[in-house]
Amino acid sequence: MSKVFYKSLEDIEKIRESSLLVSKTLAEVAKNIGEGVKTIHLNKIAEEFIRDHGGVPAFLNYHGFPYSLCISLNDQVVHGFPSEYQIKDGDIVSVDCGVILNDFFGDSAYTFPIGNVNADTLKLLEVTKECLKLGIEKAVVGMRVGDVGYAVQEHAEKNGFGVVKELVGHGVGVKLHEKPEVPNYGKRGSGIKLEEGMVIAIEPMINAGKAGVKFWEDGWTVSTIDQKLSAHYEHTVAIKKGKADVLSTFEYIEQVLQQKD
Ligand code: MG
Ligand code: MG
Repeated sequence: MSKVFYKSLEDIEKIRESSLLVSKTLAEVAKNIGEGVKTIHLNKIAEEFIRDHGGVPAFLNYHGFPYSLCISLNDQVVHGFPSEYQIKDGDIVSVDCGVILNDFFGDSAYTFPIGNVNADTLKLLEVTKECLKLGIEKAVVGMRVGDVGYAVQEHAEKNGFGVVKELVGHGVGVKLHEKPEVPNYGKRGSGIKLEEGMVIAIEPMINAGKAGVKFWEDGWTVSTIDQKLSAHYEHTVAIKKGKADVLSTFEYIEQVLQQKD
């Protein structure tokens, strides 16, 4: 990771545009995701949508990553490869997307439940999304990255879930991954101070069972050590006028999902 890049208000508006293109791309994924769909098909749709809107997929060729989306199924935590796998009823599918638009980066992720998903699984998704919201509430001037991590960890563990420690959120905007690191665990009042003009990706990765993960020989995929499910939600968040300004949104995705119900 490189240094902390502080963004001007103009930079933040550009990162908002990039982040909204990510959000709209994830809504395209939402339209097309479902039983019987191959995950590679979702990758193709996303790449075309990003390019049709003047963007470049930020993950494609990033340190050699071969796809435009990370698609992580069930016990996969993050960085899964799109493939010929056909999505099944009861799967949960985490889709992570990054875009470069006008030289600025946005980054967001959403975990989709497919068809009939049991109540325990829905709770994992709900709690992970709540962790993201609680983390964002701490992304204000005067707090530190440890306050964000503490909020995420406390809520996940209170619900009996495991918090992934090996992978973390990050600064974003000028590059895909900048300083500071934003762990999903921590101590209140510890770590780097959050300051005006920082833009961070907050991204809880929460496991139904143990916190531990394993790294696959493909060099990318990360899955849970106990093969239980894992969920991942992510927003790009600016610290602007002292407060958290969430630059990406799940609104477009959730509109699509409501229409599909
Ligand atoms: Mg991401
Ligand atoms: Mg990220």
